[in-house]
Amino acid sequence: MFYPEQFRQQFPYFKQKDAVVYLDNAATTLKPQILIDATSEFYVSAGSVHRSQYDAKQTALYEQARSRVRQFINAESDNAIIWTSGTTQAINTVANGLIPHIHAGDEIIISEADHHANFVTWHEIAQKCGAKIHILPLLDNWLIDENALVSALNERTKLVAFNFISNVTGTEQPIKYLIQLVRQHSQALTLVDAAQAISHVKIDLQKLDADFLAFSAHKIYGPNGIGVLAGKLAALEQLQPLQYGGKMVTDVSKDAIHFAPLPYRLEAGTPNIAGVIAFNAVLEWLAQWDFIQAEKHAIALAEQVKVRLKNDKNCQLFTSPEPSSVVSFVFNGIASSDLATLLAEQNIALRTGVHCAMPYLSRLGVPNTLRLSFAPYNTAREVELFFQALEKALALLD
Ligand code: PMP
Repeated sequence: MFYPEQFRQQFPYFKQKDAVVYLDNAATTLKPQILIDATSEFYVSAGSVHRSQYDAKQTALYEQARSRVRQFINAESDNAIIWTSGTTQAINTVANGLIPHIHAGDEIIISEADHHANFVTWHEIAQKCGAKIHILPLLDNWLIDENALVSALNERTKLVAFNFISNVTGTEQPIKYLIQLVRQHSQALTLVDAAQAISHVKIDLQKLDADFLAFSAHKIYGPNGIGVLAGKLAALEQLQPLQYGGKMVTDVSKDAIHFAPLPYRLEAGTPNIAGVIAFNAVLEWLAQWDFIQAEKHAIALAEQVKVRLKNDKNCQLFTSPEPSSVVSFVFNGIASSDLATLLAEQNIALRTGVHCAMPYLSRLGVPNTLRLSFAPYNTAREVELFFQALEKALALLD
């Protein structure tokens, strides 16, 4: 069972008098009290992790977090969980890490569904290495064209990056199947951008069979500045470190440097300890809630919105073929930014713009969209407030 009201009460945001109706959860989620408590507790204490005998307690919590993430996504080992600052840094760690393995004439496959974190990063790496980029088209239901994928794969394909769930339309790609296709037709490594998926589907990394998976804690009730690069040990072993420095080495002399094993080899410098420890607390707390039912609640709210917007012949909807908690739309003849401003003035927080996914917007054929994205703490009353505000805004813009 999932009790949305009880879940909502975990978030101090809603206790503020001036809290606006927050419908921008795909950008970042609100933070539960447990995160604030764990963060304060850490900052009241002293020291670092993995440095001294006296920091044993913090170190234990820090490593417990790694283990908790491993369980949460069913990765093959704690050592296959690398802390990063977010999805973007996780993807950059892979892209930069593979530079020694990508040669002139090699090929990298991305798709129109990709967030700039993938799209831009792989473009730059391809350029640096003299590799060729294939951009897979999206079909009219926003799914990746699997025939185009199969045709693009060959012995020169080094990596295929997939967006798991789109931050633009909420479309979930059949990742497991797409990865199977990659395996059948090439030796390429696979990377899954799970920035959105992490809070919407139960991820089983070993079943997905992806080589790399990236996500950010802030999209799943966690702190900013912490993310995860997870993957197969064999794939992670191939990466050259993005950064060099302390704690990623076992022995340093004037003659030779010996690197530490995973995960430390890819985690140079003092980490974001507060972020990791707070994320540990959040994941422990989250385990008490029925993840699947919580997601159903968020989707049901989004579906109500879709049904009502569909009835407006002036509204163009861009949504996934399957139910999802994201609703992108435009109103014909009305600038999305004007609408968003009028909604913001009525305390409705939603996103407008290109969603860091310009190629996706080009595919949709619009310069921008308005986007509502729901979380399990949202309510039917908030949907109502959105429609009341929308009606007023549209009347003003008429
Ligand atoms: N990929 C997707 C699908 C996203 O939605 C986002 C965040 N909007 C990112 C990547 C980048 O995440 P971050 O900014 O936390 O690194």
